[in-house]
Amino acid sequence: MKLCRYNDNRVGLVEDGLVYDVTAITASLPPLAWPVTPGDQLLTHLPQLKDKLLALKANAASLPISEVRLLSPVANPSKIIAAPLNYHAHVAESAADKQIHNGVHLPGYEGFASPVAKFGVFLKSPSSIVGAGEGVAIAYPGRRNDHEVELAVIIGTQCKNVSAADAFSVIAGYAIGLDMTVRGPEDRSYRKSADTYSVLGPYLVTADEIADPDVLDFSITVNGEPRQSANTRDLITGVAELIEVASRAYTLYPGDIIMTGTPEGVNTIVPGDVMHARIEGIGEMDVAVRA
Ligand code: MN
Repeated sequence: MKLCRYNDNRVGLVEDGLVYDVTAITASLPPLAWPVTPGDQLLTHLPQLKDKLLALKANAASLPISEVRLLSPVANPSKIIAAPLNYHAHVAESAADKQIHNGVHLPGYEGFASPVAKFGVFLKSPSSIVGAGEGVAIAYPGRRNDHEVELAVIIGTQCKNVSAADAFSVIAGYAIGLDMTVRGPEDRSYRKSADTYSVLGPYLVTADEIADPDVLDFSITVNGEPRQSANTRDLITGVAELIEVASRAYTLYPGDIIMTGTPEGVNTIVPGDVMHARIEGIGEMDVAVRA
């Protein structure tokens, strides 16, 4: 199942390039009362709503996906978790490029099994999230603002202390993530959390459609020029282990997003650029950059 949010917060099922309007599903969500439990309400109840979604689709109006404005498929993530330095070739380019490390964010991890073992994971502000149709607004003009294309994992079940062996059971689905980043000395949580600096899209693909998230080809071009192209088999710390590491520290809630790390080829984008990202088995999206 491919689930999207579009236009004025409509809910869609995507099939063969068409978006079927199943917004009526929101009437099946229980009313919210203060204090609200963290987590995205639709994803919290998604397992019980799948049959109803398919029934709604049978009689739903549809539009070509190219004619809708895609929002983030997760409306209310409690947090966006991200892995630093999770592909060897990106570790190497980060070490070699002073514009990336600034003498501050040195990627060496001698004495540790992996960069994640040394640095852990970090958080991006939930207010930074947008969908493909909303685009990226440059928050730091005149500086190097980079694309980082990543496999994004979306949590479906509230959990804590999940072992890697059990990790796939808590995944709702996958999407393409763009971990937009300004290079500089500031903390990652500042450089990667400006409004629009977390792009999620084009839609959520439920976990049953992705047999193995650790073998997916993915890429990004900017104005048609190839920038990053890799396969998730080269993740240093894979999807299941990232869930183990993240859930050791944080309770994970439905709708929480884990951006799994970016491969080599990070580079700058400027207003007017159009990024085109794709991940095998998930889909593809155009994301415009503006001032
Ligand atoms: Mn990243």
